[in-house]
Amino acid sequence: MKYISTRGNYQAVEAAEAIRTGMVPTGGLFVPEEIPVFSLAEIQEMAGKEYQEIAFQVLEKYLTDFTAEELKEAIGLAYSRSKFPVAEVVPLYALDQNQYLMELWHGPTAAFKDIALQLMPQLLIRAIKKAELDREIVILVATSGDTGKAALEGFKDLPGVKIIVFYPAEGVSKIQELQMTTTDGNNTFVVGVKGNFDDCQTAVKTIFADQDLKKLLASKGYQFSSANSINWGRLVPQLVYYFSSYARLLKNGLLGQGEKINIVVPTGNFGNILAAYYAYRMGLPVNRFICASNDNNILTDFFQTGIHDTRRDFKKTISPSMDILISSNLERFLFEITGRDAGKIKQWYQDLKEEGKFEIDRETLNEIQAIFSGDYSSEEETIKTIKETYEQYQYTLDPHTAVAVDVYNKYKAKNHDDTVTIIASTASPFKFAETVLQALGQGEIDNAKPEHLEDLQKISGLEIHPGLRDLGDKKVVHKRIAYNEHIEKEILDILQIR
Ligand SMILES: *Cc1c(COP(=O)(O)O)cnc(C)c1O
Repeated sequence: MKYISTRGNYQAVEAAEAIRTGMVPTGGLFVPEEIPVFSLAEIQEMAGKEYQEIAFQVLEKYLTDFTAEELKEAIGLAYSRSKFPVAEVVPLYALDQNQYLMELWHGPTAAFKDIALQLMPQLLIRAIKKAELDREIVILVATSGDTGKAALEGFKDLPGVKIIVFYPAEGVSKIQELQMTTTDGNNTFVVGVKGNFDDCQTAVKTIFADQDLKKLLASKGYQFSSANSINWGRLVPQLVYYFSSYARLLKNGLLGQGEKINIVVPTGNFGNILAAYYAYRMGLPVNRFICASNDNNILTDFFQTGIHDTRRDFKKTISPSMDILISSNLERFLFEITGRDAGKIKQWYQDLKEEGKFEIDRETLNEIQAIFSGDYSSEEETIKTIKETYEQYQYTLDPHTAVAVDVYNKYKAKNHDDTVTIIASTASPFKFAETVLQALGQGEIDNAKPEHLEDLQKISGLEIHPGLRDLGDKKVVHKRIAYNEHIEKEILDILQIR
């Protein structure tokens, strides 16, 4: 399987190269040359398989230049019991017989990013080996919170790789900061940046584009790479759980063969819901996708009007991992839904760059609306949903998942659609303990402290997530703080280059 650019501006490459490169160097994103398909019988057979086996079945269709041994080894390491202590890897929780929460947060860092970021580093080091590069890879990550820790855990102690994470020193929660600064491993580095997330991200992008720095690093045996969510290697692991969840419902007699489901996803960069869409194109029976946003509701407007307008204020919300104005993976979706019209994509993204907005044609909008709905949940509604879900089902939602549940409730009230529905649950409530405790009426708590986890344990009746337990007792080993204009100096210092 070869990978082509969404903008038709690059030669086709093998999967290993797409994963090594991250994005198309000339602009655009890598997509598979064709979408493989599973028959209903093959999907039915998944009901008897382990998560790791289904992962292999999906990956071997896409990563054809990797050997079966390479894929199996990578999958085995990513989804071992020591990383994901639950047997199913991704369990389903039945709110009732029509709605199921797909719990994606049983990995080491308590957010759904672990599913991709445990596997992608294993794929990346194998991809690097194939190219016989004898340089050490330096992964640079700018994070608003969840990605940083998940990437640190995924790359920790891997041979031939160093990882440096930059986070806004005043822009993440106390728990998120502690998760990162207490990371062990002999190749992990964490730098708090004085500034907001955009400052961090811009500084890192500038580093990537700096040709002189690139040459200097090469002369010392280093090469930069990235672990962000536009990399196909982060997307393909996310297709797996849509199949495994569907197969489990089949197995338990909760779906008939070929019966369609609805899928609801709390959306930020559009990676998770895009994975669901690819699963559908591969044969998964889906009736409707419901794209849930928070107050940064640019996608809600887009699905309703076909106008994608980024000229608006960025809002800081209680579901911070969805605070995003430009959802990178929307580009891949538009490429697929237009029947792979690279000319249209090129035009729209040029408009976006020049005018801050683009508008799609009526025909494409009709295609999209036939299968996608979009809506959003305000801050108040999200809080109310955490409280009401707790009261009605004794289930504790994190704020991101609550956005999805609220949007689904609105959809149901409007459409009276009783299709069996899977709702992506993207973080453990413990990761956002202070917001959840406030929503459950536990008073004003200004900044999460590790002891709040125990309060939440008492109220929710859940075990504290193992990745967060004892966080307060762990030693802070990363204490670097830098101004964003000194990030380059910080990197050279870490790599001991003068
Ligand atoms: C990253 C993230 C999301 C958004 O997922 P996308 O794939 O970026 O749309 C939602 N919830 C949580 C908890 C996340 O960490």
